[in-house]
Formats: sequence, structure tokens, C-alpha cells
Amino acid sequence: MLLGCHLSIGKGFPAAIDEAESLGMNAIQIFSHNASSWRMKEITGEIATAFRERFARSSVEFIVIHTMYLLNLASPDDALYERSIISLQEEIRRAGMLGIDQIVTHIGAHVGSGVEAGIARITSALNRALCSDIAREYPSVRVLLENTAGAGTTMGTKFSELGEIIRNLSDPSRAGVCFDTCHAFAAGYELRTSNGLAKTLDEFDSEIGLNHLELIHLNDSKFPLGSRRDRHAHVGGGEIGIVGISRVVNHPALRDLPFILETPKEIDGKPGADRVNLAQVRSLHKEKEE
Ligand SMILES: [Zn+2]
Ligand SMILES: [Zn+2]
Repeated sequence: MLLGCHLSIGKGFPAAIDEAESLGMNAIQIFSHNASSWRMKEITGEIATAFRERFARSSVEFIVIHTMYLLNLASPDDALYERSIISLQEEIRRAGMLGIDQIVTHIGAHVGSGVEAGIARITSALNRALCSDIAREYPSVRVLLENTAGAGTTMGTKFSELGEIIRNLSDPSRAGVCFDTCHAFAAGYELRTSNGLAKTLDEFDSEIGLNHLELIHLNDSKFPLGSRRDRHAHVGGGEIGIVGISRVVNHPALRDLPFILETPKEIDGKPGADRVNLAQVRSLHKEKEE
């Protein structure tokens, strides 16, 4: 299976691959810069080449860049909106330079302007970013929209919203969806039972289309079903639990997708949680019967 964690680039891009390999991951997620700042440290040609070479001779097969949290593609505020579109385009450029084909992003919050206005804003932001000169320069880079837990006025909590946005893109082939299990569960989508998971994926399929699903954020949830609160828990250590997580990683529609853990880095105040969570997922993932 394709499995890994969100890793820090604090020691440079190649160091993230070193860490992934030392933990036996074949998939990773990274930020391309400090995610709490608009400033993006330049990626020089030299940095890009070194990373691409490291990636090419690595056991890591899948890398995705997560955009920063400041970005709001639904914002009614023009300055923030324009800044968000420029940043998304820059992320496309950075991914392209690093040889990374997927970017995952939260789509933002309408902050009172309403769901329909938010959807229109996001659709036009994505159309602009995906039809930009930068996007044309890096045609292999795709943008994955992530579902959210539903705190405040965040968009993308209902599958119908993500589906409407993707259907209205001028080039839907450059967009996909990332399904975060903690967010879906907090948003009220049942994952713990066989029927519940089937119903959730049926709704995903009818509202968005399972063909658009490209990535799973495999997180357990600290808070109960429908709580609309976004707090990740260790795999099997939250409200979704071992049985629910096991159903997700073994479901025929999901099992061959990349799984990225965004679980806490510490267990009982000690580092090393990634190793424990990865082992837990691997033990749950049953080999396909030939
Ligand atoms: Zn996520
Ligand atoms: Zn989250």
C-alpha cells in the first residue's frame, strides 16, 4: 500500500525523504515553505534539481504538497482573495519545479457571504490558477480539494459543495479530491460501520464521483461524529477507532489510493508516534486475496 506521514521540511526538502525512508514510508506530504507565513523561500534551480534527483532514487513513490492554512479561496475580501490565488499559483510552480504532481488545499471559508457566493469565488479562483501561465508551464501538476470538518463557515464540509466546484471548473481534469477521514467523520459522515461507510462513499460517488478521489488523509478524530471539530487523533485512538480505520484502509474503492497520516507526532509526551501509527495501519491493511 502507499502509506506515509506529513513530514517537516525544516532540515530541507531532501531530508524529508531521508526521514521517510528511515521510517519505511513510500508516500509523504510536505509543506513547500513555512505554512503559517505568506513568505515563500525561493526554490532555486539547484535546490529543485537536487530534490528531483533524490526523489528519483528513493523508495518514496508519492509526494504531495499541502498548501498553507492562510489561503482562503472563498474569501469575500478582495485583497486576501487575490493573495490566495497568487499563492496557489506559486505552489503550482514550486510543485512543478520539485517534480511533485499533486497539491492538496483547503478551499477556504465564506465568512458570512454565504455558501453559494463561496462556491462561485472558489470556482473562479481555481479556474484562474489552473489556466494561469504557471499552470500551463507545469501541466502535470494537479490541485486536490480537501473536505473539511465544518467549523465556522468553512467550505467543503458537504460532498455536494466539492462536487459543484469540480463540475464548474473549465478544466476538471486538473482537479481532484482529498478525503480526510477525521474531517468527514466530524462533518457527520459515518465510517465506523460497514453500512455507514458504504453510504458515505455512495454519497461521495453521486455528488463528486469516486473517479475524482486521489488521496486519503487517514486521521482518527478526537471528537464524535458530527461534532464539526477538527482535532486529529492517533490511528485507532479516537472516535473512529480501530474497526473504522480498518474498514477505510481495506475498502475496495480506497485501498489502492495513497494514505497520508496527519496524526500527532507524540504519544504520551514522547516522540516517535509516526512509527507506531504506521505499524498500526500496516497491521490493519489485509493483503488482497489472489
Ligand atoms: Zn487533512
Ligand atoms: Zn484536520
